[in-house]
Amino acid sequence: MKKILIVEDEKSIAELERDYLEINGFEVEAAFSGDHGLQLALSGDFDLILLDVMLPIIDGFEICKRVRSVKDIPIILVTAKKEEIDKVRGLGLGADDYLVKPFSPNELVARVKAHLSRYERLMSRQKPESHELYIRGLTIDASSRRVFVNNKEVTFTTKEFDVLSFLAMHPNQVFSKDHLFERIWGFDSAGDVSTVTVHIRKIREKIEQDPSNPVYIETVWGAGYRFIDY
Ligand code: CA
Repeated sequence: MKKILIVEDEKSIAELERDYLEINGFEVEAAFSGDHGLQLALSGDFDLILLDVMLPIIDGFEICKRVRSVKDIPIILVTAKKEEIDKVRGLGLGADDYLVKPFSPNELVARVKAHLSRYERLMSRQKPESHELYIRGLTIDASSRRVFVNNKEVTFTTKEFDVLSFLAMHPNQVFSKDHLFERIWGFDSAGDVSTVTVHIRKIREKIEQDPSNPVYIETVWGAGYRFIDY
């Protein structure tokens, strides 16, 4: 079942949207404030976000920008004013579409369905032929989530694997601890950025011959980490 996040501070509108979407077979979660919406959007596993623009604390523009920097899922902005549309377009926030209030339930459901199927087509096209990465004796198999060092399997925890495969899939790019934390853990209030350091250390112990002189994951002082691939 496809899961949709509604971020809308007017509860009556949020409930209406929820009803229409649930009737049409979607699973729906709703947040009534910007900060809660952002938190859910980053930590939850949603297929699409229906995002109101005018929200208290953090507005829809900001949420859209922040979510888009880490997730590809469709985002439909909901605006109360036609004038906001120009702003939506101009800002280049990465929203996929917008709806102007008031909109009909049929229009809402049609747009949601259209964007979900478009996204699915896009994803199936992007699926790589091989899920394996080979880097100087290190093999990362993304489909079975297994790691081999010189053909010997090494056990990884879920998050260790996520960090390693994310870095390896973006070779030579520097990622800050904050970025990695947001990307891998989401806004999980239980954790903090120092978790990233701990995970990097554990990964190095597993894949590096000499963890204090790493050849795979390099520390870029003051900036973050980089996976080295020549
Ligand atoms: Ca609003």
